[in-house]
This record gives sequence, C-alpha cells and structure tokens, in this order.
Amino acid sequence: MEIQAVKGTHDLIGKDALKMSYVESVFSAVATLYGYQEIRLPIIEHASLFNHGTGEGSDVVRKEMYTFNDKGGRLLALRPEFTADVVRAIISNKLYAKNDLPLRYFYHGPAFRYERPQAGRYREFNQFGIEAIGLNHPMLDVEVILMAVQAFTMLGFEHPIVYLNSLGDEETRKKYREALISYFEPLLPNMCEDCHERFKINPLRMLDCKVPSDHELALKAPKLRDYLSEESQKRLELARKVLEEEGIEYRIDEQLVRGLDYYGEVVFEIQVENQGNRLALGGGGHYGKMVKELGGPDLAGVGFAIGLERVMDAMEKEGLFANLDDSLDLYLFPLGKEALAKTPSLALRMRALGYSTLFPYEETKLSTLFKKAEKAKARYGLIYGENELKNGTVQLRDLKNQTQKEIAFADLEETLDHLLLDEEESHEH
Ligand code: AMP
Repeated sequence: MEIQAVKGTHDLIGKDALKMSYVESVFSAVATLYGYQEIRLPIIEHASLFNHGTGEGSDVVRKEMYTFNDKGGRLLALRPEFTADVVRAIISNKLYAKNDLPLRYFYHGPAFRYERPQAGRYREFNQFGIEAIGLNHPMLDVEVILMAVQAFTMLGFEHPIVYLNSLGDEETRKKYREALISYFEPLLPNMCEDCHERFKINPLRMLDCKVPSDHELALKAPKLRDYLSEESQKRLELARKVLEEEGIEYRIDEQLVRGLDYYGEVVFEIQVENQGNRLALGGGGHYGKMVKELGGPDLAGVGFAIGLERVMDAMEKEGLFANLDDSLDLYLFPLGKEALAKTPSLALRMRALGYSTLFPYEETKLSTLFKKAEKAKARYGLIYGENELKNGTVQLRDLKNQTQKEIAFADLEETLDHLLLDEEESHEH
C-alpha cells in the first residue's frame, strides 16, 4: 500500500527547503534589527485558547481549526495562527513582569487550517511573524509596517504596496456595527450564506466578502471613517505621514477588515503586483484586548504575519531566487586504490576548512565520477591518481567552465580560498 501525503500538505525538499530558510533568515535578520527576539512555541494548544483569543467569529476558528481530543480527554488544537499562541506564552511566563515593555518577539513555523486546498492555499502552511506587546503607541504600530516593508525590499520586491485601514477603537466599532446591521438587514435575503453567518457574528467581516454581488453591496455600506474618533484618525494619519515621508507606496483600503476578530485601530496588508494580479503576502495590525481576554493584564499588542509559501511563490514569479546557491563546493575524484585510500582524510580536511565536499566510497570510473559530481552540483573537482600523489600535486577542475589546472598540493588551501570565497562574495552582491 502506498501511503499518500495528507491532503493540503506539501513537502519541501532540497532547494525548496533552502528557499524557505532563506526567506525566514531575511525576515529574522530584519526583525533583529528592530530589537525583536525569537520565540519558539508549541504547535498544540488548548482549543479554548483560539476560541477566546483568535475569536469565535473568525472563519479560522469557526470552520477551519484542527481540533482533537488527546488520550487524556483534553480538547486540543493545532495552531491556526500564532498571535494567540504568543500571547498565551507571554501570560504563562509572566514575561510582561520580567522585561521592559513592549515585549518584542518574532516566530516562524507551521500553522494549520482546514481550508479547501488550491494554489497558494494549504492546510499546513508556514508563517513568519512578529508581535510587540505592552505598549499602546501609534509609532510602534507604524514601525511594524516599516519592518515588514524593509524585509520585502531586502528580498528583492521592488514595489511592496501597503494597504491600510483603521478599524477604530471599541466604542467606534460598536456604533459602526449597529450602522452596518441597519444597512445590511434588508439586503440579507440576496446575500451569500457566509454573509448570513457574518451578519450574526461579526458584520464587519461582510465588508470583505469576495462574492461579486455582495462585494458591490459592501462598497456602498456606511464607511467606518465617518465613525472614527479623533484619536483613531490621528493614529491613521501618523501611519500615512510616516509612509509618505519614507516614500513607501500605500493605499487606503476601506474594505480591509482582516479575517481575525481581535484587530482594532490600524490594520494593514502587504501586497505585490505580479502580471496585473495583486498577491497578498501578509498582514497585521493593532489589537487591544487579547492579552486581557486570555487572563493577562490589560496590554495592547501589534503584529503581522506573512505566509512563507505565498512569499516564495511570488519570489519565484519575480525571479528573486536566481542567486540562491545550493551547489556543493568540492567533489573528490580519486583515481586508483592508493588515491581512494587517502580520500576520506582529504575530505575531512576540506570540510574542516569549511568547504562542502563529497567523494566516492569505492573505486569508480572517471566518467561516472563526472556524472556524480554534476548531480551533486559540485563547483570544483579535485582529481588525483598515482602521478599526482607522486608529485605532490592535484588537478583542480572548474566543473562549470570545464577548465583544469595542476596545482601543488601545498597551495590547495590558498587557491580554493581565492576561488570559492570570491565567488561567495560575488553571489552576495
Ligand atoms: P492571516 O493569519 O489569516 O492574516 O494570514 C497571514 C498570511 O498567511 C496570509 O497573508 C497568507 O499569506 C498566509 N496564509 C493564510 N492562510 C494560508 C493558507 N491556507 N495557505 C497558505 N498561506 C496562508
């Protein structure tokens, strides 16, 4: 019986895994520049964490969460997102009492949602994200947007576009909710089933319905901006001003409400355009109440999350992985028994110098060795047989350009240093 991979999951092998590590490393490096530290969290949590934290009104919790009873009868969930996870860790470890605020953490790892799999949509996917918790300051919200843009720019995206909106404070949302209920109620019979649900749970979510006729109606709905308090307007203005000053392209998108229940004030999404299509790579925003809701002190938070597979797809389309190098530095070509006997210790030396190296364990024909070196994507070959051993030399073969020269064994280290380090530097530029 051939066992299949679970629907909606995907394997990342070799270069694909390297691509994901690369994206993670760029985002991690940028987060570090902003004073964020890594946090690694459990994949399983009590399901109630997400019910209370992420919110029972969100599709993610209502329809898409992977829950199960463990052998001890606990109702657990595979995390569908990280924010509730991070907040739980902050409360469990009382981090807010031990550190200066805001706490700043970045994370990456898998998240799980039982969605209908399609291009760019998986049931197990990976996110990178950050959370800053414990300071309610509009500049902190803006900084989070700047950080996300900087990371996308470092990955090579030329025009990341920030879509920006304000969901206002709690009072505003309460009033606005009532206005939406009055507006949508008579229209409801002609709207989709999901909108009926959203109407009951969170009418704000009706604004980002993708069904075309519903979308039309949503465009004509009362605008949240007409209900914003002066304070919320100022917060949004600050975000606009900083983005303008920094020359970052942004658009106000009044339909942007984000799928999760906990957001308020400034929310954003980052998109790139590819062949006329807008691709949403990630988003986030400010959240006021989650820490308290989950049993912690009254601390505000702000964060964003990106979908690593989505970012990788977009990078692939833009050719941004062209310089990602998964080649091997050296392949050893021992010719004859004596050369083979010396090979493991030569490989050990090369690896100790920092060169990735492979060699054959058995006597192998030269033509086969060339094929193996090619499959291993080796950059250089070291070829040595009886003559070379006698003369204290080695044939250094450039496997890309098919050139070869004999060098003294004593000069090997210095020569390789020049060749491989120079190449590494030119990759980085
Ligand atoms: P969210 O937590 O819903 O704001 O999602 C953050 C980002 O995760 C999105 O912008 C997507 O890039 C990515 N994402 C969400 N759901 C999926 C999924 N099912 N498969 C792949 N990526 C996803």
